[in-house]
Amino acid sequence: METIDYGIDLGTTNSLIAKYSKGKVEVFKNPVGYKETLPSCVAFRGERIIVGDKAREYIVKDPLNVFSAFKRKMGTSEKYLIPSLMTYYSPIGLSAMVLKELKNFIPEVQKPSSIVITIPASFDTVQCNATKEAGREAGFEEVVLLQEPIAASLAFFNEKMNDAGSLGKWLVYDLGGGTFDIALITIDNDEMRVVDHEGDNFLGGVDLDQMIVTQLILPRLKEITGKGDIDSLINQRNGPYEKLYYILLLKAEEAKKELSINDTAEIEFTFEIEGEAARDIYFEITRVEFEKLIEPKIDYTLAFIQKLFDRNNIAPYEIKNIILIGGSTIIPYVRKRIGESTGIPVNFSADPSTAVAVGAAYYAGAKIKTLPTKLIETPNETAIESDVQLQVAYNKTTKDMEEYVTALFENLPSNCTYRIARADGGYDSGIKNAAIKIGEFVMLKANAVNIFTIKLYDELNTELAIPNAKIEITQGLFSLYGQTLPEDICIEVDDMNNNTTISEVIFARNSILPLKKTMFKELSRTIKKGSTDSLIINILEGNQSVHPSANKVIGVIEINGSMLESDLVFGSDVEITLEISESREISVNAVLTFTNQSFNHIFNPMEKYISISKLREELRTLRNEINRSIEKVLEGDDYEKASFLNDILEVCNALIKDASTLREADMDERKYQLEEQKRRVATQYYNVGLNNSPVYEKKEKIQNMKLHIDQVMNFHNDIPDNIREEYKILLDTNPEIMKSTNHFNLNGFYMKLDKFYSKLVYNVPSMLINHFVYLQGLPASAFTNEKAARKLLDQGEKAMEKTNHNELLAICKKIWAELKDEQTEIEKIKGTGLGS
Ligand code: ADP
Ligand code: MG
Repeated sequence: METIDYGIDLGTTNSLIAKYSKGKVEVFKNPVGYKETLPSCVAFRGERIIVGDKAREYIVKDPLNVFSAFKRKMGTSEKYLIPSLMTYYSPIGLSAMVLKELKNFIPEVQKPSSIVITIPASFDTVQCNATKEAGREAGFEEVVLLQEPIAASLAFFNEKMNDAGSLGKWLVYDLGGGTFDIALITIDNDEMRVVDHEGDNFLGGVDLDQMIVTQLILPRLKEITGKGDIDSLINQRNGPYEKLYYILLLKAEEAKKELSINDTAEIEFTFEIEGEAARDIYFEITRVEFEKLIEPKIDYTLAFIQKLFDRNNIAPYEIKNIILIGGSTIIPYVRKRIGESTGIPVNFSADPSTAVAVGAAYYAGAKIKTLPTKLIETPNETAIESDVQLQVAYNKTTKDMEEYVTALFENLPSNCTYRIARADGGYDSGIKNAAIKIGEFVMLKANAVNIFTIKLYDELNTELAIPNAKIEITQGLFSLYGQTLPEDICIEVDDMNNNTTISEVIFARNSILPLKKTMFKELSRTIKKGSTDSLIINILEGNQSVHPSANKVIGVIEINGSMLESDLVFGSDVEITLEISESREISVNAVLTFTNQSFNHIFNPMEKYISISKLREELRTLRNEINRSIEKVLEGDDYEKASFLNDILEVCNALIKDASTLREADMDERKYQLEEQKRRVATQYYNVGLNNSPVYEKKEKIQNMKLHIDQVMNFHNDIPDNIREEYKILLDTNPEIMKSTNHFNLNGFYMKLDKFYSKLVYNVPSMLINHFVYLQGLPASAFTNEKAARKLLDQGEKAMEKTNHNELLAICKKIWAELKDEQTEIEKIKGTGLGS
């Protein structure tokens, strides 16, 4: 079994490639110029494409044909116009050029076909897919993704901390060129785990460069040249200073680096605009000025640390060190400020520019290739099926050179033999007699991931297939507990009681990948064979407590009536299995148990799929919700908010109109645009702070119900003790319920309260009477059949006079059946077809 060995840090500003070999990592140098870092910069010079340092230098000559920081646009539909070629390149295409250039750093003739590429911890599925695509475009057949803070930690702990001193909690603070990431890491028994992370994908050294330009350079330039319009025109596309802007950014960066060593830095360039003589400009900026300038930005990063602490209930003294990585942490002020304001020791022994690549290589050195070695991995084609089950126990990581492995067999036939062998042939137990429990010391290779397989043979020496026969032990290195999911993965389900749909979480944020889950959902309506109606399985990424339309769609399976073999009946089961691999491939399998049909999809949301019917449905749902909210805020006399909501409503209505003209066969991009606009409107709506999210509404309902029950419990003195006790238990067993953000838990609790309230009415005579009086007070229009209701209310009156509790209860039940459903007035949405 071969390991991947090669790792790439595909950075916003700089990229590197490194290789793991025999317990050590080597960072490759550019054969031209001998530098390890390759600027993630692409220049187009006529037909020629230049990548790296030369491309960067070209900025001064022809800035409009040089592209950088495209990592910030990964996964978006942004296209870069290349003026010299008059064509467009996507962020994926440009990234692929950087990756190809890195490949040229490798001296071997044999270029790797599998690679580990790092990504910011906060990259969503689309961004991950875009990165993988860039890898494939660069000629890598297998791309494994690794989150940057994990990579940095692997480098730090494998190279700097090979002792027990590493046990505990750590922070990794990565301030690079374009992104800021902070991760909370725990080390426990040589196993590393990313507990939580925070960050901003739009904060880094380039932002500091921009600040230097606008706040330190431009005022001086204005003074020197007397041009008053410089600041307003400087970053205008096709404006008079467009070229100058790029040149100044470059100068600012150089000066910034200079200020990491010296107290002052020179700014020197030629000021050239059309129709004027060129002039040389020269002045200095100081470290003091610079530090004052960036202070708010650095404080902003500190706020993220606080957020991480708050969310995980951690105090600074519990953190051993903050490990600083990323080029911008070279700035002395950054180091000082972080240390001083957190009180946590700052550790900058990891090389800030190479740590991520080095870690990626360590990871690659432990990662088995899945591509060409597949056949070698499963040599047991002759193995026959058996129902033998196997459970293996061992330490997954160790500093020892041998490990004790125990195995438990179930359904073991008599007279079997077994053999444990290391994949590289370095150890073999030989053939031994099998027992239900076996134990074996296996020999390990140093600083490597050791892989063994257990094989079982029956008395005729035929190999028996057994599950879980692979053993993986990491010797010497820190192994990784796993990569985490940056956002909740949800499925959209119907909440027909509230005439809306909600996001039900499948995998919560920070769950360890890979993940797999099977769930059963009931159909919320019947879908007829051959009809145009469809069942929609919508997988979302984002936050479980917001409405589905405000989350990102990863993929949709639309099962249309014409695809059905028979009607799909209301209440029948749909079995849905969702799998996410470590590199974030998402696959969904849906089995309609009623029609016995199965649908498989691998979601690759780089090719954004949008269902038009779904889009229309979402817009309608959104409109309903906005309408409801407007009514609500008007009740509270909040006219300002109502007017704001009206604006949103107008946009929403316009989108509904637009969407009604979409056709499935349309060739244009209109549906993508509408989808984007819908998300924007939805996000705007959910950010208004209406607090009428499904979760908030449920909490409000619970609170009102509880208040009501508390009041009646105080007021009525004929409530039996056992019922009072039941209420107390109900509250005591759910002490944290109001803190929950889980719609389903809240709903469950509300139902319990509701049921309890019914019990009171059923069992407490004075409460039933109160309730009956309430029913009497309702207007005639509250009932579907006024006459019948009138008659029942008269009967009830008599039963009440006779103080006949049971008779009154029976009559009340009949009256309830006559009550109109309050919801019927609102336009009903259709929903996904999946019940909650
Ligand atoms: P990324 O991971 O985003 O590609 P890096 O970690 O390589 O970025 O950091 C690049 C950033 O670090 C750039 O903005 C660069 O200007 C900045 N940088 C590099 N060296 C220094 C230095 N000596 N002083 C200040 N900033 C630096
Ligand atoms: Mg980086």
